[in-house]
Amino acid sequence: MLPWVVRRTRLPLLSLRCPDCRSGSATTGQGRFRVNANGKLLDVWLLVRCQSCNRTKKLTVHERTPVGSLDPAMLDRYHANDPDLVAATLLDQWFARTNRFALDWRGAWRLDVPPARHDEAWPVRVAVVFEDPVPVRPERLIAHGLGLSRGEVLRRVKCDIPLRRTTSAAFTFIVMSMD
Ligand SMILES: [Zn+2]
Repeated sequence: MLPWVVRRTRLPLLSLRCPDCRSGSATTGQGRFRVNANGKLLDVWLLVRCQSCNRTKKLTVHERTPVGSLDPAMLDRYHANDPDLVAATLLDQWFARTNRFALDWRGAWRLDVPPARHDEAWPVRVAVVFEDPVPVRPERLIAHGLGLSRGEVLRRVKCDIPLRRTTSAAFTFIVMSMD
């Protein structure tokens, strides 16, 4: 059986307190970097803005980094606001930690469930893979994917990780037949 795939549909928002209006939500919008050269040192920031007052905040990507230590092709991508690099930067755990924000994934992802095969024998084994590091609770994801209640999931599903622990790592589960 084909795996279920968790993937993002857009960039997640940032849970980040605004110093001006105290709102807790920021966005990268289309995604813009700012590069500043100071002699032989470079600073690179990702710009985000408050969702309620539009105040812009710079999140540090590189701080006083020697120009020579940054791959020129990479530098071009920062200058070009490369969308893939914006996404990779935003989803980088180290970047989130050093800039003290959490990602808000609500409404920013989906679960793709391939059509079930009718000749499939019980019990059915399903692998879940992640194209993006979306935090999900297996119990809720499986209930949604199978169209079952969470109670049914608890009765009929055996998962190789705890059903109620949030994860963004691939896992597998087995669904028992209804009998
Ligand atoms: Zn604000």
